[in-house]
Amino acid sequence: MKSSRTNSSKEKSYEKLRKKRIWPSIVIFAGGLLWCPCLFMLFVQLFATYIAGMKIEQIYDDVLYSSQLLDNIMEKGCTVQQAVEELEPYITQGRDIYVVDKEENPIVKTGTSTPDFRVTYDISLNEDIKVIADSEENFIQEKGLHSMSAILVEAARETFEKDDMAAYDSTWFYSSILDQKIWLQMPSKNSEYLFYRKYSLQILRMDILYVCTFGVFTAILTFVPLLLMFINTIRVIFTQRKMMKFLYQDIVTGGCNWLYFRNYSERILTQHRNRKKTYAICSLHLEQYHNYCSCYGTKAGEELLEVMNGFLNARTNRHEIFARYEGADFGLLINCQGMNEQEHYNDCQKRLRSLLAELTGLNTEQKLHFQAGIYIIHPISADNGRYYKVRKSIDINQIYNYASIARREAKLHEETRISFFNQHMLENQLWNQKVERDMEAALREEEFEVYLQPKYSPSDKKMVGAEALVRWNSRTEGFIPPNRFIPIFEENGFITQLDDYMVSKVAKLLSEWTIQGKKTVPISVNISRAHFAQEGLAEHICQLVDAYGPSHELIELEVTESAFLDDKKVLIETVKQLKAYGFRVSMDDFGSGYSSLNSLMDIPFDVLKLDTEFFRGDDSSRGETIVCEIIRLAKKLGMHVVAEGVESKEHVDFLTELGCDMIQGYYFAKPMPVSEFEEKVEKDA
Ligand code: C2E
Ligand code: MG
Ligand code: MG
Repeated sequence: MKSSRTNSSKEKSYEKLRKKRIWPSIVIFAGGLLWCPCLFMLFVQLFATYIAGMKIEQIYDDVLYSSQLLDNIMEKGCTVQQAVEELEPYITQGRDIYVVDKEENPIVKTGTSTPDFRVTYDISLNEDIKVIADSEENFIQEKGLHSMSAILVEAARETFEKDDMAAYDSTWFYSSILDQKIWLQMPSKNSEYLFYRKYSLQILRMDILYVCTFGVFTAILTFVPLLLMFINTIRVIFTQRKMMKFLYQDIVTGGCNWLYFRNYSERILTQHRNRKKTYAICSLHLEQYHNYCSCYGTKAGEELLEVMNGFLNARTNRHEIFARYEGADFGLLINCQGMNEQEHYNDCQKRLRSLLAELTGLNTEQKLHFQAGIYIIHPISADNGRYYKVRKSIDINQIYNYASIARREAKLHEETRISFFNQHMLENQLWNQKVERDMEAALREEEFEVYLQPKYSPSDKKMVGAEALVRWNSRTEGFIPPNRFIPIFEENGFITQLDDYMVSKVAKLLSEWTIQGKKTVPISVNISRAHFAQEGLAEHICQLVDAYGPSHELIELEVTESAFLDDKKVLIETVKQLKAYGFRVSMDDFGSGYSSLNSLMDIPFDVLKLDTEFFRGDDSSRGETIVCEIIRLAKKLGMHVVAEGVESKEHVDFLTELGCDMIQGYYFAKPMPVSEFEEKVEKDA
C-alpha cells in the first residue's frame, strides 16, 4: 500500500517534470526580442533629441537676448530701421533680420533670403518662438523631417552614404555636415511689427559620432542581455530534452523505460485515428534469467537484455512500442492485422511465435527460452459496429498485469509458449491472492482438517491402513478441496507448514488412539516435494512425531514422484534417514511422471502407490498390462504396492489376482472425517 502510494507520487512528479514546458523561457525571450530593440531605439532617439536640444537651446538663448536688446532700443523711440542697424553689432550669428508690419508687409530685409512662412517646423522648445523655413535652403522640408532627432539621424545617414572618408584630417570631426538655415521669430514686446532672425542650424560630424558611440553602448547594454536570454532559452530547451530522455530511458537496456511505454501506449490507444485498430499488449518473459546471470555474470545478463532491446526495436513497427518492465520481462504493444477477431488473434499469435523463435536463437552460447502472455485490446464498436468509439482511458499497467497472468499459464502450452488472457485466468489469479491472504490465519485457527481414506487388503477385505488428506473448512468459502490450494502452497512455500501441521495432527491422533486402547492402522501423510528438498527433514519429522509419542511404524510418509526431479542426493539421504528412524516411506502417484524406474533403482522405498490414472481411460487392457508388470517389479524389489483410485469391483478383483497389497479407493471408502473413520476402523480393521 505504502509503496503504491510512493510510486504514484513519483509518477506525479515525473509527470510534472514532463509537463514543465519551455514556453516561459521562450515567451521571455520573445518579449526581450521585441522590447530590447524598442529600448535601443528609444535611448538613441532620446540622446539625439538631447544633442539637438542643446544646439537649438543656444539659438533660443541668443534670440531671447537679442529680443530684449531690440525692445530696449525700440523703447528709446528709434524707428525699426534704426533699431535693426543698432542691433547688428551685438549679434554674432544670424545677422540677417527680416521685419514685417501687422499686414505682413516687409519693412526691413538685411539678407538675400526671407522666411518661408508657409513652412514652420515642429522643433521648437518654446511655444512663443516659431521656427520657420528659409526661402532658399530647405533641406529639412525636402526630406520631410519634423523633429530635431530625425534631422540628426538623417544627417548621420547622409554622412555615412556620401561622406568622403578619404578627406579625413584633424578638422574633419569638427566640420559641419548639415548647415540648415532657419528663421526664428523674435519674441519682441513691440506689437506693431514682427521680427525674424535667420540662424544656421549646424550639425557637426562630432555630433554624429556622439550619437553613434552612444548607440553602440546602448546596443551592447540592451543586446547583451538579449543574447544571454537567447542562450538561456536554448540551454533550457536542451536541458529539458536531456531530462526527458533521461526520464524515459531504461538504465539497463538503454531503450525506453516503463514510464515511457505506459505514457506512449496510452497515447497510441486513445488516439482518434487508432480507434478502429486492434492492439495487443504482450508480456514477454525470458525464463531462467537469474540462472543465466549466475552462470555468466550480471554484466553478461544486462548485455543480453540490451541485445534483446535492439532485436525488439528492429521487429516493432511504427506506432508500436516496447520497454523492459523489470528483470527480464518486456512489455510490447503491437498492432494486430485482420478483418475479424479470429484473424486478429491469429496475426498476433503468428507474430509472437516468430518473435519467440528468433529470440530463442539470440544467444549463441545458450539456447534461451521465452514465454509470452497476450491481452488483446479490441476496438469499442457502437451502434452494431457501424462506428467506433475512441478509447477514453486505458490503464496500461492493469492490462500488462492481465498479459502477465496469461503469461504465467504459457508454460501449459508447451509448443507455442504463448497464452492469451481470458476472464477465467483472472478468477484464478484472484483466487490465488485470496488463498495467500487467508492461509496463515486459517492454519492458526485450525481451519485445515484431517480426513482419512482407508486402505484395504484385497485378500481379506480388512482395513490395513489409511491416508491422511487435508481439507480446508474455510469460514468464508466453505469446504475447499486440496487441488484448489495445494498447488498454490507448493508455489509459495506454505506447503511445508501445512505438512508439519498434518504430521503433528496424525501423530496426535495415533497417540490418542493408542492411549485410549482403540484399534489403529498405519496412516500415511503426504509430504510435498518442496519439503523433501530441505536438509534435516528426517530429524524435523521425528521431532514433530515424538512430541506426541506414537510408534514410528504407524506413520508412513508419501512423496510424489515429481519430487525426484529436484536434488536426488538430498532425497535419497532423507528417505534413508526416515527409514532409519523407523518410518515407512512410499512413492506416491507412481507412473504419473517420467523418472519412475530410475528412482525405483536409487531410492529404497517401502511402498509404491500406483497412480490413479492407471484405472481411468477407455483402453483398460493396456493399463492392466502395465499395472501387472509394475506389481511384479515392485515385488521383486521387495516393495509393498498400493493401488489408488480404485472405484470398481472389476479392478478390485483384478488387483487381488495380481497380489496387490492394498487398495485405496472409492470402491471401499472415500476420505472421511476423523470421527467417522474412528467408527469404521473399529468395524473394518
Ligand atoms: P494423493 O496423495 O495422490 O491422494 C489421493 C487422491 O485421490 C485424494 O484426493 C483422494 O481423495 C483421491 N482418491 C482416492 N480414491 C479415489 C477414487 O476412487 N476415485 C477418485 N476419483 N479419487 C480418489 P484429494 O484428497 O483431493 O487430494 C489430492 C492431492 O492433494 C493428493 O493426492 C495429494 O497429492 C495432495 N494432498 C492432499 N492432502 C495433502 C497434504 O496434507 N499434504 C500434501 N503435501 N499434499 C496433500
Ligand atoms: Mg498421497
Ligand atoms: Mg496419489
